[in-house]
Amino acid sequence: MSNVVDMDERYNPFTGKRIVPGVDDAVPAAAALGLEPPRFCEECGRRMIVQVSPDGWWAKCSRHGVLDSKRLEHR
Ligand SMILES: [Zn+2]
Repeated sequence: MSNVVDMDERYNPFTGKRIVPGVDDAVPAAAALGLEPPRFCEECGRRMIVQVSPDGWWAKCSRHGVLDSKRLEHR
């Protein structure tokens, strides 16, 4: 019996590679600081449309919608 929901697949937003649990994925230093917008959707690995604005950036996945730098800062 398996009620456990597998972790959703995750993708490195900067490289588009599948994230494997337990394996560190290189994230560019600027990206780790939130200065660099992600280029790939974390949820599906699709390439996103990225727009940099004076106060941040947003990136849009055709499937999962817009990811906003402001929203990330609230986490
Ligand atoms: Zn997506």
